Amino acid sequence: MRKFQHYIDGRFEDGAASFESRDPATGEIWALMPDAKRDDTDRAVKAAHRAFTDPAWCDLTASQRGKLLYRLADLVAGNVPALAAIETADTGKIIRETSAQIAYVADYYRYYAGLADKIQGAHLPIDKPGMEAWLRREPIGVVAAVVPWNSQLFLSAVKLGPALAAGCTIVLKASEEAPGPMLDFARLVHEAGFPPGVVNIITGFGAECGATLTSHPLVARIAFTGGPETARHVVRNSAENLAVLSLELGGKSPIVVFDDADLDSAANAVIAGIFAASGQSCVAGSRLLVQQAMKDRLLAKLAAKAAQIRIGDPRKNETEFGPLATQRQRDRIERVVAASLAAGARLVTGGGRPSGFDQGFYYLPTILDCSGVNSPSAEEELFGPVLSVLTFADEDEAVRIANSTPYGLASGVFTRDLTRAHRMVRRIRAGIVWVNTYRAISPIAPFGGYGLSGFGREGGFESVLDYTRTKSVWLRTSDDPIPDPFVMR
Ligand code: NAD
Repeated sequence: MRKFQHYIDGRFEDGAASFESRDPATGEIWALMPDAKRDDTDRAVKAAHRAFTDPAWCDLTASQRGKLLYRLADLVAGNVPALAAIETADTGKIIRETSAQIAYVADYYRYYAGLADKIQGAHLPIDKPGMEAWLRREPIGVVAAVVPWNSQLFLSAVKLGPALAAGCTIVLKASEEAPGPMLDFARLVHEAGFPPGVVNIITGFGAECGATLTSHPLVARIAFTGGPETARHVVRNSAENLAVLSLELGGKSPIVVFDDADLDSAANAVIAGIFAASGQSCVAGSRLLVQQAMKDRLLAKLAAKAAQIRIGDPRKNETEFGPLATQRQRDRIERVVAASLAAGARLVTGGGRPSGFDQGFYYLPTILDCSGVNSPSAEEELFGPVLSVLTFADEDEAVRIANSTPYGLASGVFTRDLTRAHRMVRRIRAGIVWVNTYRAISPIAPFGGYGLSGFGREGGFESVLDYTRTKSVWLRTSDDPIPDPFVMR
């Protein structure tokens, strides 16, 4: 059995306790993970706090920080097969996706490496004679980063990258569901040559490790990705340290297909939106909103495509669809699908476990026709391969349904009508609108949600500024004594 360690203050160490991690494709225990309790977590934060003012880190120039990040990027690029194999073993995500995503994670670090020496202050055209004033942009301090189990290397790159570019130090808590890839990634941080304590990577359970980290008095900034319920805990925890928060949460994202859309293109996008990563994606297009005249043709195409998806061992290159990450996750999906069918939803395809997969946490690609029904599957985030289909008559109804959930992370619009596309872009309440495409990401494009999908943006230049704060500096240029000390000037 493989054994992983924490990375605290530049050293690899076992946790005070440990727990077992299961391979979702077999249900078997495959690794032993360290379990950070209160003390381990506290030590990691104190290490990051010490490192923040250690000259080995804080005296580096911004360009030197950038070089360290470039080195890290190269190491990620050079270790894709090893990292991808661990991520696939721990999460069940198919090797094709983990390999491609991790290769792209290297580009995320390159993007932030390039930004390190582009973070600038400003000279202020101050309205007082004999005075110079300017803004310094300084790193905010110790960052607590908390990530869920899916796409951890990617979700941590959009936190570590900008935080390190800005000169912060960081404690990253990997998800207890599948911490393997992040704990292994610590090797690369070490090899890149970041001074001890600048990056600390731990894992543990939310109630102890997560809560200790996000309420810690030495933490200045919390970058959280996960579900809305956990986010509420994190917001409450942050009442202790009043840290600046960003929250990347879940979604119930709509893909709106008008009857003039390219049928094949829309069908492929819907399949990618809901069945890639077995639906375990925050931007999963879990609600298909299709214009009535298009419905039968699109559903027939989707059902045919869903039936052809190659379900299998996530380690094999030909596999397109692997298991869910946890048993708990499959249990929940089974419950909600049953409740949706009981509420009147019609099963188009799927709706159970695939035959021949008795081991592991597999669930079939599933499509539910929910038109005219109040189906729980169309309201709750399932984080699984279940598509809820709804219909609309016209643009206004499409907008109303698209905006009818408390979430607002991503959305897709399929139409050949340019003016309608622009109107939809304006009217949909979501942090991302993909027009005639879906599930495209880049370090250059900000990512984040509206409403219960959270606040703050990751990616893009401004995300680096979110790890800084400004200091206003005033300098009097006159050698004359300060006049009248009793009047504010
Ligand atoms: P989760 O909210 O259960 O857990 C996320 C992390 O929070 C884990 O590391 C967990 O240990 C930690 N945590 C739990 N309790 C805590 C507490 N009291 N204090 C501090 N930390 C605590 O999420 P999950 O089930 O692992 O992941 C699925 C969710 O993540 C979905 O809702 C999905 O949409 C969301 N997600 C969002 C994005 C995005 O960028 N918007 C990306 C991926 C996943």
